[in-house]
Amino acid sequence: MASVTIEDVTKMYGSGDGGIVAVSDLDIDIRDGEFVVLVGPSGCGKSTTLRMVAGLESITEGTISIGGEVVNNTEPRDRDIAMVFQNYALYPHMTIRENIGFGLRYSSDLPADERNARVEAAAETMDIEDLLDSKPGQLSGGQRQRVALGRAIVREPQAFLFDEPLSNLDAKLRVKMRTEISRLQSELGVTSIYVTHDQAEAMTMGDRVAVLDGGELQQLAPPQEVYDHPTNRFVAGFIGSPSMDFLETTVERTGEGRILVSRSNETLSYALERSTADRLGIETGSDLTLGVRPEDVDVSGDPADRDRRTSFEATVDVVEPMGSDNFLTLDVGGPESWSARVDSSFVPEEGSQVGVAFDESVLHLFAADGRTLKSKGTGDGSYHGTEAIAA
Ligand code: ADP
Repeated sequence: MASVTIEDVTKMYGSGDGGIVAVSDLDIDIRDGEFVVLVGPSGCGKSTTLRMVAGLESITEGTISIGGEVVNNTEPRDRDIAMVFQNYALYPHMTIRENIGFGLRYSSDLPADERNARVEAAAETMDIEDLLDSKPGQLSGGQRQRVALGRAIVREPQAFLFDEPLSNLDAKLRVKMRTEISRLQSELGVTSIYVTHDQAEAMTMGDRVAVLDGGELQQLAPPQEVYDHPTNRFVAGFIGSPSMDFLETTVERTGEGRILVSRSNETLSYALERSTADRLGIETGSDLTLGVRPEDVDVSGDPADRDRRTSFEATVDVVEPMGSDNFLTLDVGGPESWSARVDSSFVPEEGSQVGVAFDESVLHLFAADGRTLKSKGTGDGSYHGTEAIAA
């Protein structure tokens, strides 16, 4: 086992004007035994990062170290890592036993009986001992992914690298395998990097989550911290489902102890405590984005039944009953569509008017450049729990 350090790493594909910067100045320090999930939208540089750690892609600038040793010029087979892919990458003509043992045969000089014992132990860990003499074609997608995992663990590598390993599985199996991979990782204690575009996987699996966008690290922190205290608007919108509700406003007027922030056409406004605005250095005329998580939106059936300063009216577009609660899609009269998670007993009619309210304590505020000024539960943006922030 070993730490994996990604230091000031940049990856360019091509050069000059036609060149693409796939990863820019990336710094991620993965501790020995830690499980870090790289998450972000398609094209943000996740796979490129993983492939550089694996040695499948060259590094344009910076260094990658495994166990304290710089591996920039080390061949993939000499890096002592095991990779698990989305497409399983099993040999169709070999049995499961041969597939699991294949890498071991070439990467170690273990005698045959010891190799076989390790293959059987790995198969047992993955609960596929009964399949050892089958061929991949006879297996379901979930079973094949178990074989791929077995093949990774049998090598007892210094690190596991997972590249979207669950994307080919159906939703139910995906959830099951998520838990299994997490359990396996913590039992084996092997340093792991896991790439996914699925924020739910990132939230449920990692010790820490690295959110990437446009090849740059946006935030590196434990999942709950990323959710509660996103460092910028991108992270706030990317993590969470349904995603955070946003309202683009301009700081308009100062009133009695409150400042009014309004959307440009003034159909919607919200009054912030003046002391909050002063503390955060929010100036009149500046642009400000309000953010609220759907579970923090307080929806009432009677629009009149609310404090007008901290609420507004919305039209119910869609009601989605989830069993435990209902998801509402709300039209707030502008470009933004809002979601609200409400009690399952609250079922407003589609097309009806409701009151939407939220307390300042649950509010996230973002500056015009996307930077977080204030996150939920904190008085200001001086939250220091987060370890890495890109501007
Ligand atoms: P992700 O895994 O987050 O979807 P990638 O790491 O695959 O993103 O890609 C990051 C960026 O690099 C994208 O803009 C992609 O088009 C580009 N890219 C990836 N691989 C290559 C390649 N072999 N040649 C040129 N550009 C590439």
